[in-house]
Amino acid sequence: MDAGYFDEGELVGVLTTQPLDRVLDYRAPEGGCQLGAFVEVPLGPRKVLGVIWGPGKGDWDISKVRQVIRVLDTAPMRDELRAFLEKAGDYTLTPMSAMLRLATRAPGLGDPPSMRKVYRLGHAEPERMTDARCRVLEALKEYGGLSFTLKELAEMAGVTTSVVKGLAKLGAVAEEDSPRDLPFPRLDPDLGSKELTGDQAVAADTLRAGVASGSYGTVLLKGVTGSGKTEVYLEAVAECLRRGRQALVLLPEIALTAEFLTRVQARFGAQPAEWHSGVTMTERRRVWKMIGQGGAQLVVGARSALFLPFRDLGLVVVDEEHDTSYKQEEGVLYNARDMAVLRASLCGARVVLASATPSLESWANADAGKYDKVELTSRYGPAVMPEMRSLDMRSERLPSDRWISSALQSAVNARIERGEQALLFINRRGYAPVTICRACGHQIGCDHCDARMVEHRFLKRLVCHQCGETKPMPEICPSCEAEGRLAAVGPGVERLTEEAVKLFPEARVATLSSDMFGSARALKAEIEGIAQGSADIIIGTQLVAKGHNFPLLTLVGVIDADLGLQGSDLRAAERTFQLMRQVAGRAGRAEKSGVALLQTYQPEHPVIRAILSGDEEGFWKAEAGERRHACVPPYGRMAGIILSSSDVQEAFDLGNALARQDAPLRRIGAQVFGPAPAPIARVRGRHRVRLLVKADRGTPLQPALRQWVGQFRLKGDMRLSVDIDPQSFY
Ligand code: ADP
Ligand code: ZN
Repeated sequence: MDAGYFDEGELVGVLTTQPLDRVLDYRAPEGGCQLGAFVEVPLGPRKVLGVIWGPGKGDWDISKVRQVIRVLDTAPMRDELRAFLEKAGDYTLTPMSAMLRLATRAPGLGDPPSMRKVYRLGHAEPERMTDARCRVLEALKEYGGLSFTLKELAEMAGVTTSVVKGLAKLGAVAEEDSPRDLPFPRLDPDLGSKELTGDQAVAADTLRAGVASGSYGTVLLKGVTGSGKTEVYLEAVAECLRRGRQALVLLPEIALTAEFLTRVQARFGAQPAEWHSGVTMTERRRVWKMIGQGGAQLVVGARSALFLPFRDLGLVVVDEEHDTSYKQEEGVLYNARDMAVLRASLCGARVVLASATPSLESWANADAGKYDKVELTSRYGPAVMPEMRSLDMRSERLPSDRWISSALQSAVNARIERGEQALLFINRRGYAPVTICRACGHQIGCDHCDARMVEHRFLKRLVCHQCGETKPMPEICPSCEAEGRLAAVGPGVERLTEEAVKLFPEARVATLSSDMFGSARALKAEIEGIAQGSADIIIGTQLVAKGHNFPLLTLVGVIDADLGLQGSDLRAAERTFQLMRQVAGRAGRAEKSGVALLQTYQPEHPVIRAILSGDEEGFWKAEAGERRHACVPPYGRMAGIILSSSDVQEAFDLGNALARQDAPLRRIGAQVFGPAPAPIARVRGRHRVRLLVKADRGTPLQPALRQWVGQFRLKGDMRLSVDIDPQSFY
């Protein structure tokens, strides 16, 4: 008998996407079913989606076991993906149903293929030929027998869709139905490869050899911005394609996809599959299917792409691996970088972690020899790393509504005169972070969260950055009802734009902040415009720190280099170091050399000094030393427990009970801290209480956590979530 096959009537265990934390017994359907098959099963009065997870346990009243309704027309889930979901669920303490939901986020699973209209050259000649009609027919002739969708064809010919429809009516263009779920065009690994520099060639050889080995391994690809990391890892992708395996490239930000797709097109002659929140439902369904069937060789996506049903995944690239957006902070709490390593280890794939400023975790893993490391030390071509200097703000006597120092102002003026670009960086969205009543001192906060409302003049509203709630700016103070006394305090990116427009009246100023663009497309257009010189001064938030290439940019001014150093977050130093190095790296990416100026009130702060000197190894060693001393990740194990409830007392009561009944943790030598109000003590009307668990490195933390938390039943609307390796430590 085939071990992976169940005959009709045999007991099978089915995992469903319903929030029940167990695999349920069913009888195999007529015709039997395969291990991993996607099925529809009855659950109470409903039909739900499930996967054949293994043989049935038979621990259920046999007469009540129901039969699987049908097997869906989709390739069964592979052993490797099932193992990945189980291990990832174990690691993050997530119920399996929630893990399965991550892996089945494709609409219309199992539906018959949907059809769409496509157009190709017809036989009839139109009697009346117009210029527009002629362009359509020319475009089709140029591409031989190929067919296109209405939109594609109209765009190609530069006509309205009605022209194409008119031609279809006359028979000059043939209209036909074609399945939507077409494979992606083949990528040619040998098409647009570049001649690599010495460093790059060495790095590419290492990556290629890794992929060729067909076994698991992780490489840290470290290189300053502009050194050619992308160029190098595309060589690893090429090798993966040559071997007929699939590759996945993760990017931290959708805004970076467009630029990356253009490069893939140039390198491999066609576009890869995309997977992120900006992809339409129909396209997602196609991508999901094609990945399973091998009709997609390369996927570019967000962290959720890690849960796709790859047929044979051979390479995962995590670009900008240090980026905090790889940490999923809602629902299932996982770090995509760690999950990439886990999945790759299960399917014999290579992982490439690329960054100019790696996370301390990856640095430590490379340092300890767990990861290989390859390094590109200089920028490609004539570009050199920018010179970095601090501007001591203590000697500047700026009025309280000004943030650009005179030194920065003259540096910007010098660029404008030379026809170069300057970037002013501030990591704060909106107009001003605080709105305060000058009569009573009241600060406007969110009604649902323990957070301030941030004024956004562009949106003409106050916005809560926690929950997204907005409200109009009040005319009178909500606390003392004084009129006209509300004042903006502190700078945001919009307010900085206002200052720049005043200081540099002749300059063209462009603001890049995620709020200001309705769509990824609008943002992309703006970024392309800027790259071609449509602005003299760019004012931007974190959005500009990531990967974009502005060849005319020669000056970066950081408005507040100290911003990230405040507070008690142990990762603050690492974050600030990475962000400042990244932002500075935007300057001088072409022939002209660049300068980065950091405005700071504490130029002697060790982190600021490390940023300026560029002594990365020194910085990492010092940082590693502190973490080792504090016994925190990556030198110790940590988990955050968040209890949230509409009732603050109940949350604290449960927190105290957890802290008292900590025997399962004490047994492994782990310690509990708290309960205490969470860093954000109220979100969307729910109170949040936090406990922290710390243990030595190498301690099996998860089983103990599961036992500990499992002692309690959650009552009312109480929710408990476990965050393994939380991003902030306090
Ligand atoms: P990174 O990913 O490290 O920021 P990129 O791969 O984007 O660097 O390279 C920076 C720029 O230099 C890109 O425009 C890239 O095409 C170009 N470049 C890098 N290496 C080469 C090479 N060997 N030949 C031609 N162009 C290169
Ligand atoms: Zn809020």
